[in-house]
Amino acid sequence: MSQSTMKSKSAHLVRTRGQKFLWRHRVLVLSGLAAAGCIMLIRDLGGLQSSELAAFDRLLQMRPVEPVDDRIVLVGFNENDFQTLGSAQIPDQTLARVLTKIKAQQPRVIGLDLYRNLPTQPGNKALLDVFQTTPNLIGIAKIIGSKNGNDVAGHPMLVESDRIAASDVVPDVDGRVRRGVLFVNSEPPLVEGLGLRIALEYLEPLGVTPEESSNDFRLRGAKFPMFSKDDGGYVNADDGGYQVLLNPRTRRQPFKMVAVRDILDQTVPSTTFRDRIVLVGDISAGNSDIFFMSYSSATGSAPVPISGMELHATLTSQILSTVLDGRPLIRVLPKWVEWSLIALLAYSSAWIGARRFFHFYKITLTLLLAGAIFLASFGALMLGWWLPLVPMSLAIILAGATMMTFEAQQLTVLSNQDPLTLLANRRMFDETLHREWSRSLRSQTPLGVILCDVDYFKSYNDTYGHSKGDQCLRMIASVLKNSVKRPTDLAARYGGEEFVILLPNTDAHGALRVAKVVQSQMQALAIDHSGSWVSPFITLSLGVTSIVPTADLSPEVLVDVADAGLYEAKQKGRNQVVLKLP
Ligand code: GH3
Ligand code: MG
Ligand code: MG
Repeated sequence: MSQSTMKSKSAHLVRTRGQKFLWRHRVLVLSGLAAAGCIMLIRDLGGLQSSELAAFDRLLQMRPVEPVDDRIVLVGFNENDFQTLGSAQIPDQTLARVLTKIKAQQPRVIGLDLYRNLPTQPGNKALLDVFQTTPNLIGIAKIIGSKNGNDVAGHPMLVESDRIAASDVVPDVDGRVRRGVLFVNSEPPLVEGLGLRIALEYLEPLGVTPEESSNDFRLRGAKFPMFSKDDGGYVNADDGGYQVLLNPRTRRQPFKMVAVRDILDQTVPSTTFRDRIVLVGDISAGNSDIFFMSYSSATGSAPVPISGMELHATLTSQILSTVLDGRPLIRVLPKWVEWSLIALLAYSSAWIGARRFFHFYKITLTLLLAGAIFLASFGALMLGWWLPLVPMSLAIILAGATMMTFEAQQLTVLSNQDPLTLLANRRMFDETLHREWSRSLRSQTPLGVILCDVDYFKSYNDTYGHSKGDQCLRMIASVLKNSVKRPTDLAARYGGEEFVILLPNTDAHGALRVAKVVQSQMQALAIDHSGSWVSPFITLSLGVTSIVPTADLSPEVLVDVADAGLYEAKQKGRNQVVLKLP
């Protein structure tokens, strides 16, 4: 055999084997695909976004508590400070004093998360002096929104000396902030976000600077994957600039907070700010710069907002921990991997649903699978991977439920069907007889029955063998099925080589006509039967009756009378129809 024919032969074999597998598993594959497809559609339309983000929050919150990040200290102007100042604005003089005191402790970098583009007298001169003499002070500007006038410029002196970072924040559809902005797109090109900028200032003395690389932002080999609009549970999110998924420290208050009053009163220990990142911002109740994030609420409690300053510190801490502590960033799987996972789980759940064991075990197994997926999602998140928990769980539930419903339905069909001829079985006939009897009793309409028996069938088996006998029974069954026309008529296998036809709302005349149709169709079929004494072909004997039910009769009478007719047909020489009335 040539190599090419061998190749094509094996390809053919694989194809037919694959086709066979698909055919055998078609219901499984179909329900798995249907479930996965439905979920894909709903997810693509954004129907799962909120729940996916909420599930993401819950998983983040479940992680073990991490220690406070000692590299960052926050200085907040709180409600008391504004009361003492007697003003809603922080005067330049006060700010200058606070900054001077912080500066005296030699912090590595000061991030000023307050808009100071306009002078707030008194003391503007003093603040300018501080700005001039503090090269490690970084101010902010709001950059996004410059087209509709929502931007806020940075202080001119800081802008001039390139000490301005972006304070922009990108909230999600539910108002929570789960992404940090590394760079904001503006003209000229890119401006660092405050969180990144102060992290870079902190890292520079350690010899860590951004690596010149293609498209990714990298620090000491750590790649910060750029957020894109459909990452994780997001659908068409705003992915402008260079954003990363936030991986907040797992505690409500991850940073030390120092009160402004304590700084001014000089009650703060002298090493509080030394060599650290110090962020100065507004944390008063009247501050509009507040946000919600993944940690803002535990289940059951109202969400607690955090200040913009804490949000920037979250990103800073995340960057430092990634570079210095090897803490993982949050990454997402490529979409095709997510879909493969979802489809695979849908298939597995459908597979469980198709098993032939008790429903209770199936449901338990399905729940166990869902539980395992939950644990796997949690474990993966601990390692920094965001798995599609909600779509995966839905796939399991949907595919499992579909398959279990299908199986239950199949079982009902099977329990009512004769496996050899695929006609209704005796059980189904008895049930239908009782139902139709009651109906006919109420409406006082005739109920007809035909009982058929194959003539000399034992001898047919003896002559042609059992499997030919089976084949013959199947052919007779299809004749019976084709002889009844109304949807309420029922042809059933009564037992062995006996069949029965139930004809609601049919009088003796009508029933007789149906019996004749059966007989003539059998004749047309002309199945050879050399062992028969009455004909060279297979023939039937038929007993027919029709009764208008009365309350003193039971449905079994109908079958008994038809049976008497059948007996008479046998007696008279077989291959005939006998009508018998009670
Ligand atoms: P009669 O004309 O008096 O009805 O004679 P008969 O041989 O048809 O009746 P009898 O009751 O003696 O035998 C019925 C036969 O039907 C016996 C049995 O082997 C055969 N039979 C019953 N069920 C099946 C079946 O499912 N498959 C096959 N191949 N044969 C069956
Ligand atoms: Mg018989
Ligand atoms: Mg027979």
